[in-house]
Amino acid sequence: MILPIYAYGQPVLRKKSMPITLDYIGLDALIQDMWDTMYSAKGVGLAAPQVGKDIRLFVIDTTQLDKKEVSPEGIKRVFINAELSDESGDPWLYEEGCLSIPDIHVEIERNPVIRLKYFDAEWNEFTETFKGVNARVIQHEYDHIEGILFIDRMKPLKRRMINRKLEKIKKGEIETNHPMRFVKTG
Ligand code: ZN
Repeated sequence: MILPIYAYGQPVLRKKSMPITLDYIGLDALIQDMWDTMYSAKGVGLAAPQVGKDIRLFVIDTTQLDKKEVSPEGIKRVFINAELSDESGDPWLYEEGCLSIPDIHVEIERNPVIRLKYFDAEWNEFTETFKGVNARVIQHEYDHIEGILFIDRMKPLKRRMINRKLEKIKKGEIETNHPMRFVKTG
């Protein structure tokens, strides 16, 4: 089922999400809905707060990206209760966008290597190193479950330049191909 995506301005996007417990009801269905929603909106990642749930869950699929861009190769993965333990390497710039902040694409600086502990959809525990674009998409989605948006990582001057655009998104004064939930309609 395709879910509406919560737009910039929605308080749930600013909350630190809660860990998911083993007895969380409807988790499998929610994960399926998040895949449906992400693909429908043509995203490479989607975090639970973007569909209105303040839980530590996100999905990514970088296999959709150009093969040359993703090294060594793309991954399709569910991340439950992820914990970022380390970020390293020389910071690099990569253009990011966000399904909750349509039509804004900005180069953001992040570290290229991360170490992450997480559970998959079958509750298998992993501790894994991710690099490059895979790390990048995980960092973006991980920020979501911490209540952080990629625009927070912009340099203040650049951020000021998109303020008007952000206010328009907040008020729902934008056109999107995907159903969105703006703050004025709750
Ligand atoms: Zn995002």
